[in-house]
Amino acid sequence: MLYGAIEAGGTKWVCAVGDGDGHLLAREVIPTTGPEETVSAAVRFFLRHERPAAVGVGSFGPVDLNPASPTYGHITTTPKPGWAHTDVVSPLRTALGVPIGLDTDVNAAALGEWRHGEGQGVDTIAYVTVGTGIGMGAVVGGRILHGLTHPEFGHTRVPHDTGIDPFAGSCPYHGDCLEGLASGEAMRQRWGRPAEEVDDDLAWDLEARYLALAVTNLTYTLSPQRVVIGGGVTGRASLIPGVRVRVLELIAGYPGLPPLTDPDAMTRYLVEPSLGDLSGVMGAMELARGAAKGTT
Ligand code: ZN
Repeated sequence: MLYGAIEAGGTKWVCAVGDGDGHLLAREVIPTTGPEETVSAAVRFFLRHERPAAVGVGSFGPVDLNPASPTYGHITTTPKPGWAHTDVVSPLRTALGVPIGLDTDVNAAALGEWRHGEGQGVDTIAYVTVGTGIGMGAVVGGRILHGLTHPEFGHTRVPHDTGIDPFAGSCPYHGDCLEGLASGEAMRQRWGRPAEEVDDDLAWDLEARYLALAVTNLTYTLSPQRVVIGGGVTGRASLIPGVRVRVLELIAGYPGLPPLTDPDAMTRYLVEPSLGDLSGVMGAMELARGAAKGTT
């Protein structure tokens, strides 16, 4: 049985077919242009291969995931030109004639790591992505966490000491929420250049401080057995080790978290994605498996 996968990002769509057991058989990267052109290119990719049993899509968002909603499968209010209120599910289903599984890109990444990467052997993991924005997806007891909508972890609050960091924050809604303080966009606005060009230890200490506050809150709230942290801003070698040290400091020996009392345990707990940049597409493949079984 073949499955199809799309990691539908704002700059590129990664399309793949695979056997659903972690083996990708073909992959193609399509630049994200207009909705019709991009969807058509994805359809052409799948038509060049044996027809998959289903296709899974991990999409940038916000995206309507409520199957009862008239706008299910639509990207909703994105600022990306041409993509607001765009239905990504129906055109794929119509053109390919197979079930389409859908979730957010970061939920797909969480699912991919849970099934094939760092989450193997555990029930509950969180995947935090720190890129232009900040997102979090979670697999809880083997199922993607949904509720009112998908989690919007990037907009949670973390303490903001304006004496240390006078930057007001980049979030257009909240200013200094987590995303407003620690996303790639926040770094760009605060330091005047893209995060990957920021080469100042103080800047990265501050970044580690905010991410550690966020991971600590996530740990207390969701109680994941593992936290995977990826995304373009996490490429600096010192960042994740710095976050680990600070999370241990913030937990401060709290007795309610006995598994997380020493640096070795923290190194196993807070990890980078072992699937690298394939977490999302592998998760989308899992979404396809679910759609083929009728479970999503
Ligand atoms: Zn916000």
